[in-house]
Amino acid sequence: MKDAALQGGPSGPARPGSLSEKLRARLEFYEELGLTPFYRRAVRPAAPALAAAPRVAAREPAAAAPSAEMAPRPALSLFGEAPGRIEGDTLERTRADLGDCQRCKLAPHRRTIVFGAGNPRAELVFVGEAPGADEDAQGLPFVGRAGQLLTHWIESLKLKREDVYICNIIKCRPPSNRTPESDEILACQPFLLKQLQAIGPQFICALGGPATQTLLRTKEPISRLRGRFYDFHGIPLLPTYHPAFLLRNPREKKTVWEDMKLLLLEMQRAGPQALAPGESGS
Ligand code: URA
Repeated sequence: MKDAALQGGPSGPARPGSLSEKLRARLEFYEELGLTPFYRRAVRPAAPALAAAPRVAAREPAAAAPSAEMAPRPALSLFGEAPGRIEGDTLERTRADLGDCQRCKLAPHRRTIVFGAGNPRAELVFVGEAPGADEDAQGLPFVGRAGQLLTHWIESLKLKREDVYICNIIKCRPPSNRTPESDEILACQPFLLKQLQAIGPQFICALGGPATQTLLRTKEPISRLRGRFYDFHGIPLLPTYHPAFLLRNPREKKTVWEDMKLLLLEMQRAGPQALAPGESGS
């Protein structure tokens, strides 16, 4: 969908660098990913705390402001209205579209596609990096040691694993658990975005550098990004450390605990529905 304003309107082409020019570029990017059609987002009742509270750095006020944080909320959203629950755009359909995916070089190495699991109507989605050996074997995200730790974090939010949705930026295990490469992330990205679109969560928690950097389209290190909320297409996104990092660096436990407290506070402020357990599925 491209309206007159986005194309420059009756008064001529959009000025380079203007909001409409940026929106047009963003729309074209999504069209390239096959993420159409677009819907105008109805104005959601503002999450009071997020709207009112300054987005304060929990630890490093001087951190360079990543563009995702500063970007104005786009007038158009991938996520549509009524928290993004567009008829027909279901997780099942996205899974079917993914099929026996051969879109990137990871396909021959994997045992199982790890699509994601949890409540398809979750108010909170965790996005991790990539399946490891346990996940590849079982076809489920975060079932190994890092997953046990993540389960503790979820319980610290007064939720159960089946209340939230858990997925990764890529769905196939990289050889020797190496970091996902950009072509792999790019190939998987439309499916991740469609999952998020189908679920329409109230909050996203990005686990670790690769997940955060992918979603916020920044190269800032996670140590500078974590601990405060960013706007992801109208959804508050909180980056924190990856549970596997914490297993190697138990001293950072307190840091993640602070992040979980912040997330819990914002979810409580957003209202009971953010914390109310819903129906589960995968
Ligand atoms: N680490 C991840 O990032 N994702 C998983 O599913 C498991 C471990």
